[in-house]
Amino acid sequence: MHTYHIHINGLVQGVGFRPFVCRIANSLQLNGWVSNTNTGVHIQFNASKEKAALFYNTIVDDPPPNAIITHHHFEKISPKIFNGFSIQQSNSKGKPDLLLTPDIALCSDCRAAILSATNKRFHYPFTTCLQCGPRYSIITTLPYDRANTTMSNLHMCPVCTLEYNDIHDRRHYSQTNSCKECAIPMHLYDAANHFICKDERDMHDTVVTSLAEGNVVAVKGIGGYLLLCDATNEIAIHTLRTRKHRAEKPLALLYADITMVQQDMQLRLFETDALKDKTAPIVLCRLKEDAANSICKEAIAPGLDKIGLMLPYTPLLLLISTAFGRPLIATSGNISGSPIIYKDEDALENLFEVADLVLTYDRDIVAPQDDSVVQFTNSGQKIILRRSRGLAPNYFPNPFIGMPATVLAMGGELKAAFALQDQHKLYISQFLGDQGTLESQTSYKETLSHLTKLLKANPEQIIIDKHPNYFVSQYGKLIADASDIPLLAVQHHKAHFGAVLAENNLLECNQRILGIIWDGTGYGDDCQIWGGEIFIYESHQMERAMHLDYFPQLLGDKMSREPRLSALSLLKNLPQYQYSIRDYFSNQEWDYYQQLLQQPAPLLTSSMGRLLDGIAAILGIRSYNNYEGEAAMQLEALARNCDINSGEFYSIRLVNDRIEWDVFLKELMEDHRQKIEPAAIAKKVFYSLAKMVQQLSCHFKMDQLAFSGGVFQNALLVDMLIELSGAEKQLYFHQQLSPNDECIGFGQLAYFSMLSQSHQQIISTNERIASEQFQTNH
Ligand SMILES: [Zn+2]
Ligand SMILES: [Zn+2]
Repeated sequence: MHTYHIHINGLVQGVGFRPFVCRIANSLQLNGWVSNTNTGVHIQFNASKEKAALFYNTIVDDPPPNAIITHHHFEKISPKIFNGFSIQQSNSKGKPDLLLTPDIALCSDCRAAILSATNKRFHYPFTTCLQCGPRYSIITTLPYDRANTTMSNLHMCPVCTLEYNDIHDRRHYSQTNSCKECAIPMHLYDAANHFICKDERDMHDTVVTSLAEGNVVAVKGIGGYLLLCDATNEIAIHTLRTRKHRAEKPLALLYADITMVQQDMQLRLFETDALKDKTAPIVLCRLKEDAANSICKEAIAPGLDKIGLMLPYTPLLLLISTAFGRPLIATSGNISGSPIIYKDEDALENLFEVADLVLTYDRDIVAPQDDSVVQFTNSGQKIILRRSRGLAPNYFPNPFIGMPATVLAMGGELKAAFALQDQHKLYISQFLGDQGTLESQTSYKETLSHLTKLLKANPEQIIIDKHPNYFVSQYGKLIADASDIPLLAVQHHKAHFGAVLAENNLLECNQRILGIIWDGTGYGDDCQIWGGEIFIYESHQMERAMHLDYFPQLLGDKMSREPRLSALSLLKNLPQYQYSIRDYFSNQEWDYYQQLLQQPAPLLTSSMGRLLDGIAAILGIRSYNNYEGEAAMQLEALARNCDINSGEFYSIRLVNDRIEWDVFLKELMEDHRQKIEPAAIAKKVFYSLAKMVQQLSCHFKMDQLAFSGGVFQNALLVDMLIELSGAEKQLYFHQQLSPNDECIGFGQLAYFSMLSQSHQQIISTNERIASEQFQTNH
């Protein structure tokens, strides 16, 4: 009999690892202990050499379903004698080196328990187990134990304690355990902020009745409050939109179960799988023509052909949606563009602007998260549109594992998400929204502070975007200055390219790779607004090889809100076609803009996003954007629903480092003049972009193509690219991250990694100059 030590690192807390180890130890009749620490799970035990190896291999080869093992180690140690096998008290010493467990959607066993009249947890709204429940959103310190969560002051009743201590129970050592006897207190308030004091069953009934009457109800979810209303009641949706100041941005739906979804949506297997996944994201799906529930499609997703929907990921949402029996609107509880509200006092202070009732409970949320959003192309390619609840904050496997320092990359501004490389682990924050409001900036700062404190991480290098006016860049510089740590500024589209390269493990690739980086806006190295960029990656070097020909950026950011301005700018040298957009402007505006266009443009743009906006305006789709990307999304929806496959495309010319689009636009305007249907033109536009990629690939004689930027959220374009690429080309898309600016933080790390691996002197010349430039600007 010998004594052994096993160390398991990775995502091993909050997934039932200790009870799992106990069960195996018991079945092998081993004595010893298992414990959670800040460096993972440690096990010591007595066994023969053969049994020890069997124990170790069983743990490593078949861990609990939600666990990820990044490192494991097994050794013989000096002899100790143990009696029985126990779970030892956790040890919180040292710096954490762990992946953080995301929140896990309600599991099928708990779901069945809640819906079974004979189960002790029948209709209990906080049912959880080892396989499901809140994790990241309630962890205040590590390691993961109830005392280190926001459930620390809620005590288990004797029956729950028995379950907790019973090695054969599926709630053995479940830190979030509770039942009706030791229930998490729930509270329902009405619009007058009166506490409606009834028992839980009455609260459900009141909420469901209120929803049926067309009211809006705010319900506390996992990462914050959700606003619910009847998705089949147009007036209720209109009320929600008016109160929320959200005119057209699509709203997500909550369905009680997959059967109800199947009655309404044309589900493909990958969409069904995604809906039922433990991350339970919002999945964009297509409505059936003969949908069973008469949901108000145009009120929910105006001008779009897909609707985002999800299944209940908490027991409370399951109970409400099941009792309601029809699809519900379920949108983030916030006020006009501010971040999701997650603190109870904020909810009660602010949400009555939107909601008639607020349902809350005494389990605090420490990490605000929206629902994650994904969609699939027709060929099944997954596109992440928002990465948050269930997916954040880990990124695994870590492509920067050799990076010696703790590096904080601040990310982008419009869809902010920071990335933190700490020891061997990589963390990418949840989506933190547009940093244009004070509330978003506060949320960003709080999330960053929460994660760095949780991990006891002290950044030794900060990376920011080059844009001098980004809040996230200024904040990064502030941190760097305050702690006297180095600052690196990385160009926006180079970060995008770095991100897609790193996601596909291509940083070390010895072939040349062409980067097609198309988005709305990013500050360029020449101080113009970039967004239609072609890069070449070779031997740890990245160069801008070509770009969409510049056109005037009218009135700065106003242009991204007004597609009519993009159209005007594009048609600057084509006065014969300007009639097509004349009606979008008053006489006064028209004169003003014509004068403006005659003057030398102070700022130019090569943005593909603005090109598509302009085309959407020309085709009469819309002249203003109510939300970011609206025109481009509607252009995509229009194109997708066109059955014509003419194979025709508009021409472009590649001249020096410019992609000239003037012929493209002239041909498009001729189609428009000849009254070709906008849907057919829209489809031809995207097909032309796919052909453009082919042309670029031939021009540069490169078959390895990587895509990043918000334009590649377009499922139709992605499918056209795949279809046209043939066998000889290799296409790389984002996998775990979104192609939009949420990948910028990760990409900044990739760029830093690339620089560190190539020539240190590059950092000391170009990039330092860039950083200095940034500093002198501010
Ligand atoms: Zn469960
Ligand atoms: Zn209990």
